[in-house]
Amino acid sequence: MAESALFDTFARAPLRFERGEGVWLVTEGGERYLDFGSGIAVNSLGHAHPHLVEALKSQAEKVWHTSNLFEVTGQDTLSRRLADNSFADKVFFTNSGAEALECAIKTARRYQYTKGHPDRFHIITFEGAFHGRTLATIAAGGQAKYLEGFGPKVEGFDQVPFGDVEALKAAINENTAAILIEPIQGEGGIRPVPKEFLQTLRKLCDDNGLLLIFDEVQCGMGRTGKLFAHELTGVTPDIMALAKGIGGGYPLGACLATAEAASGMTAGTHGTTYGGNPLGMAVGNAVLDVMLEEGFLERVRDVSLFFRQGLASLKDRFPNIIEDIRGEGLLLGIKAKVPAGELVGAMRDEHMLAVPAGDNVVRLLPPLTVTVDEAREGLARIEKAAEKLTAANMKKSA
Ligand SMILES: *Cc1c(COP(=O)(O)O)cnc(C)c1O
Repeated sequence: MAESALFDTFARAPLRFERGEGVWLVTEGGERYLDFGSGIAVNSLGHAHPHLVEALKSQAEKVWHTSNLFEVTGQDTLSRRLADNSFADKVFFTNSGAEALECAIKTARRYQYTKGHPDRFHIITFEGAFHGRTLATIAAGGQAKYLEGFGPKVEGFDQVPFGDVEALKAAINENTAAILIEPIQGEGGIRPVPKEFLQTLRKLCDDNGLLLIFDEVQCGMGRTGKLFAHELTGVTPDIMALAKGIGGGYPLGACLATAEAASGMTAGTHGTTYGGNPLGMAVGNAVLDVMLEEGFLERVRDVSLFFRQGLASLKDRFPNIIEDIRGEGLLLGIKAKVPAGELVGAMRDEHMLAVPAGDNVVRLLPPLTVTVDEAREGLARIEKAAEKLTAANMKKSA
């Protein structure tokens, strides 16, 4: 075969899927894989969910795109529903998480600017964070491996150690506009931020005239068993970025804000060609139809409890493979004793998909529609993978 014409940016697993059904993905060769990666927390309702398929199909037959030069069908309803079910008053639609973060960052800077503080454009972020791959969001994430070779780091992002209150206080100065944090770090290794720390952030923001921005691109949209992860903590932000699960597989993101925080974003200050197009709105509304159904999130919490208990007993049985289980709802991580990539590989050999993360963690992010039986199947496959790894390691050390 000729050399690939694709950029070499991805180290892909040698699997190609032809179709999906619920929690299953099927390769071109007909092999079935249990999908506990959900395309990195995106397929929140599994593959080929009938309500989403119907919503996309019926919109596709009407109109695909008109641009934001006009009123767009579905934007009013979806923004209203997101606002009614959150702290927010205002919504800006995007196509991705990074763009939702760009909007959040611009909204915070613009707020300070219109309040007469043009020098207040710095945003404080935390080590281990991930906010996307644009120039501004790699600066916000602050990870050297993502910044290297891309020229000067975008100005205005000050990073402090995870959970360090003193460093945080020291970093706040007359140039600070906002604090940006994931309530549960995703790529960083499923690291929940303690509730008390988020409460401290809220207070520091209120005392210093700063805005609090939550990045819920990965932990939001039902993943934790609450519609938004911060509901578990009682702390509300001024601005929030969403994406991934919000579109169930259709590229969709959103930046939510209070009316006050969004007050600087007047006509002409920001824009997008595709963001909020009719196809995305149809699917986004369909995702919410399901997530807001009575009992949906409760079921996520129930399955999570079962799955977590199973993972805890695997941890007891395989202390040389599993160090710890962390996370909330169906945003779970196995902190591995072996390299996380090896565990993901061993699970893939058992036809189960998961996603590696930082801090040597394997992320388990099944569709939120996963059943107890499917979770049990997942546990059985992780068990087999752990058995094989244990046997292989014993051979190595013998
Ligand atoms: C995935 C992710 C992003 C970036 O989203 P993209 O759609 O890849 O641009 C930002 N923040 C968090 C927390 C994420 O998990």
